[in-house]
Amino acid sequence: MHIICNWKAHGSIESIEYFASQIEATPGFEKIILCPPFPYIPCLKGITKGAQDVSFYQPGSYTGEVTASMLKDIGVQYVLIGHSERRRYHQEIDEVIVQKAQHVIDQGMTAIICVGEQNPDSSIDIKKLIKPYEHLKKVWIAYEPEWAIGTQHTPTVSHIDHVVSTIKSEMGTVVLYGGSVNDTNIDTLMNAHTIDGFLIGKASLDPIMIKKILKKVHA
Ligand code: PEP
Repeated sequence: MHIICNWKAHGSIESIEYFASQIEATPGFEKIILCPPFPYIPCLKGITKGAQDVSFYQPGSYTGEVTASMLKDIGVQYVLIGHSERRRYHQEIDEVIVQKAQHVIDQGMTAIICVGEQNPDSSIDIKKLIKPYEHLKKVWIAYEPEWAIGTQHTPTVSHIDHVVSTIKSEMGTVVLYGGSVNDTNIDTLMNAHTIDGFLIGKASLDPIMIKKILKKVHA
């Protein structure tokens, strides 16, 4: 089971070191992919490096941008793309997300594309959500219902299994679940047997909580 930790705009050198010191001896530790803000990625020692975003552009005169080649250069292996917060606050549309994913793929890294419905609505058209990305080779998908992110609400296990199995049958790829995962609801969420791992936001800032989740996931 893969555990992707999305720190969003949180963290410091100190908190990275604390995180590493707390989890390094835990079984399953090697399955953790930590995505801190860009400046802290090089501080990750012995933890698989992830990034939360990447530039739409190739290297060039684009002030403030961080390209896929730069992420590759500092040892990043996984890149989150199209997180709902990027879509909401940076108006990222499918064409942008596809281009970013392509840059990541071209650099030999794994793009993790986030998709999910905005409202709790069991009649979501999941095929429509993944259609823009179906032609991309070797991307992973994170199923993240927007209404479950940071809300402490989660979909039912049968809903997750339905969505994840639909994505798998269409794309045949690794599919993660994300949205309010914590050390309390992980037991229930693990009953969704179709998922290959979890994308964790808030709870991932606390290494003790991640340790508990790792122990349960790898029991
Ligand atoms: C996320 O932002 O990707 C996420 C899953 O956040 P949280 O775990 O805090 O809901």
